[in-house]
Amino acid sequence: MEHVFDVAVVGGGIAGYTAALTAKNLLLDYVWLGASAFGEKLAVAEKVTNFPAVSGSGKDLLAALKGQMEREGVALTRCRVDGVYASGGRYLLTAGEKAFSAKTVILATGVETKGQLKGERDFLGRGVSYCAVCDGALYKGKKIAAVLSSPEFEDEARYLARFAEKVYAFCLYKGPALSGENIEVRGEIPVAVEGNARIERIVTKEGSLNVDGVFFLKNSAPPQALVGGLQTDGAHVRVGRDLSTNLAGLFAAGDITGRPYQYAKAAGEGCVAAHSAKAYLDKTLSV
Ligand SMILES: Cc1cc2nc3c(=O)[nH]c(=O)nc-3n(C[C@H](O)[C@H](O)[C@H](O)COP(=O)(O)OP(=O)(O)OC[C@H]3O[C@@H](n4cnc5c(N)ncnc54)[C@H](O)[C@@H]3O)c2cc1C
Repeated sequence: MEHVFDVAVVGGGIAGYTAALTAKNLLLDYVWLGASAFGEKLAVAEKVTNFPAVSGSGKDLLAALKGQMEREGVALTRCRVDGVYASGGRYLLTAGEKAFSAKTVILATGVETKGQLKGERDFLGRGVSYCAVCDGALYKGKKIAAVLSSPEFEDEARYLARFAEKVYAFCLYKGPALSGENIEVRGEIPVAVEGNARIERIVTKEGSLNVDGVFFLKNSAPPQALVGGLQTDGAHVRVGRDLSTNLAGLFAAGDITGRPYQYAKAAGEGCVAAHSAKAYLDKTLSV
């Protein structure tokens, strides 16, 4: 029989961690899903001076968090969630070939500003995709562009090349190791996507290339690409004070709910979102 968690926390950053830790302390049956524990942003912070009781680099904060995670036994299930679907009063979360079912969801997937192109959001579902595994097969024999934010997405670009006639790869980092018969690594910086009913081209500072689709392979896809029907204000999920969204049982926390983008705010919201999920469960169970 399918296991239904009380809460599924999506996002391995500090907001997701605090939500998972709080869910555990509230004795909720939780699953914490994230691409990596604490993500990419902690290790790169040179000096952290604005988080309680920490004075050091991001790596110091990371080590302290990992230590606590181990002591408290908060387990991360490593995966990249590619879809969250409401179904029969529950949520189904898919991650490649894995699937999870939960009564509530806390979305803590952060924001990604790297590689945001003009027109990107306008063509969501009309040629813009954030998930090679979900949509790659739709581009069999077609020309596509892939905009990679880091080397960790090179495998996804190779996966796309199994279907597409041609993959133009725009790697937004130094020293890409991507190659392949039908993969062309481009040196230009992409600036926009354009088209009419669907995407027709990707525009760079030097010119443009005609394509049938553009895959943005980055750590945090826009929330509306992950959850259909979710109300947003641009890149941010619209939330109430209890961090509830317009979808019953779905909460959001951290950078994804808006500025300030800070560890303390993200951690606080993770905690509040888990309490709100518990209150929601208590209320729905008592009806
Ligand atoms: C260079 C730099 C320095 C900074 N310095 C400071 C500082 O000194 N002080 C401060 O307060 N703040 C600082 N910040 C801001 C801080 O990093 C963020 O506010 C904080 O990390 C937000 O936490 P979060 O959990 O909301 O999101 P994130 O840290 O972005 O975590 C989200 C995680 O979810 C994962 N994810 C996304 N989508 C999915 C998916 N579909 N499935 C599974 N996992 C997914 C991502 O890979 C990521 O690991 C800094 C940021 C940067 C970039």
